[in-house]
Amino acid sequence: MDTRSRQLFEAAKEHIPGGVNSPVRAFGAVGRTPRFIASAKGDRIVDVDGNELIDYVCSWGPGILGHAHPRVITKVKEACEDGLTYGAPTQKEVELAALIAELVPSMEVSRLVSSGTEAVMSAIRTARGYTKRDRIIKFKGCYHGHSDGLLVKAGSAALTTSVPDSAGVPADYSRNTLVALYNDRESVEALFQADPEGIAAVIVEPVAANMGVVLPEPGFLEFLREITLRYGALLIFDEVITGFRLALGGAQEHYGVVPDLTTLGKIVGGGMPIGAYGGRREIMKMVSPDGPVYQAGTLSGNPIATTAGLETLRILKEDPSIYARLDEKAGQIASAVKESAGEGVCVNRIGSLLGIFFGPDRVKDYEDAASSDTVRYADYFGYLLDRGIYVAPSQFEAMFVSDAHTQEDVKRTCLVIQEYFSGKKAGRG
Ligand SMILES: *Cc1c(COP(=O)(O)O)cnc(C)c1O
Repeated sequence: MDTRSRQLFEAAKEHIPGGVNSPVRAFGAVGRTPRFIASAKGDRIVDVDGNELIDYVCSWGPGILGHAHPRVITKVKEACEDGLTYGAPTQKEVELAALIAELVPSMEVSRLVSSGTEAVMSAIRTARGYTKRDRIIKFKGCYHGHSDGLLVKAGSAALTTSVPDSAGVPADYSRNTLVALYNDRESVEALFQADPEGIAAVIVEPVAANMGVVLPEPGFLEFLREITLRYGALLIFDEVITGFRLALGGAQEHYGVVPDLTTLGKIVGGGMPIGAYGGRREIMKMVSPDGPVYQAGTLSGNPIATTAGLETLRILKEDPSIYARLDEKAGQIASAVKESAGEGVCVNRIGSLLGIFFGPDRVKDYEDAASSDTVRYADYFGYLLDRGIYVAPSQFEAMFVSDAHTQEDVKRTCLVIQEYFSGKKAGRG
């Protein structure tokens, strides 16, 4: 059933670390062999052994319209005929920046880069340049890409020490990244009190979606807005996942909290490599060549990627009822889990983002998420995969619903989920 994937994985391990170009793809957390994908269309992906899977990974978020949307593909093909890259400005970049500003009004001025990692790294550099301060606060369990200064965890000694969370990151790089606890106001307050004039910015995933899905408690984002203003720090929303997913205007529209800087990725590239960061003109004026904060990219604003992003955002804008459809389908899946799983399984959901945790009754922060039973998750994952349903190969990644998920496929997914949990209750499997 996965013979060819197994062969490819063995071959891949010869020349690629762990056989993959991004670690979670290796299926290490679920003890299976990764499926090598041959093609994808709509809500399905097809692996190299010819298995067709209903896809809820959606490339980890970009695929809000599903795979190979005909309009996006047509535009991309046309754009390819005009050349792949020029290293010079194009009209489409102007159109994309204007559309971003229209949909996410706080991003008055924005810069395109090639990944979410770059967007966050650059937004933080901009915040530091603007405030002339060095330190930032991030939250435990929030992911902001793999740049050195963000691969940091809280130190054991006191709240105000941080240590690298990856080999190869010098301790010096983690010194300026302080770690607070998501949904815990006191932890933020304490960091500001300890260094009232040293903190350039607080960066947060307004809905945390890299420790499973964890929602902000009422008032938490408002509190971050208030405390950053109070101490003269900037508030950065990392909307790489939530941007254009929770609403056209992202989490900031949904919650009505306006950050100073926003980072985008995933959906903004429509399946191609783009990140973006932006904010008020006055802050973005710091960025080179207008200002002293250096940031550049050979393939930044790449015309093909820009075309894919632009067409994707245009489709979303033309048909905002997409969000109601997404909400409804994701709601069906959440209900199927809740009704059949009973106790010991917690579902966190907002719109088309779902987090299903095995173990805790309630997940409001990293500690709760980390208490999940990853062995139970792996069992659930394997059961679904064997029945043609592809969810994230890790307890700590979101389940994504796209506009391409058909009612039939959602129903089938719900049935398999119900079958799984009722089988568990009956003591089978
Ligand atoms: C995926 C992600 C990133 C990193 O984006 P890449 O394109 O993978 O570099 C940053 N922040 C958040 C919230 C993400 O989910």
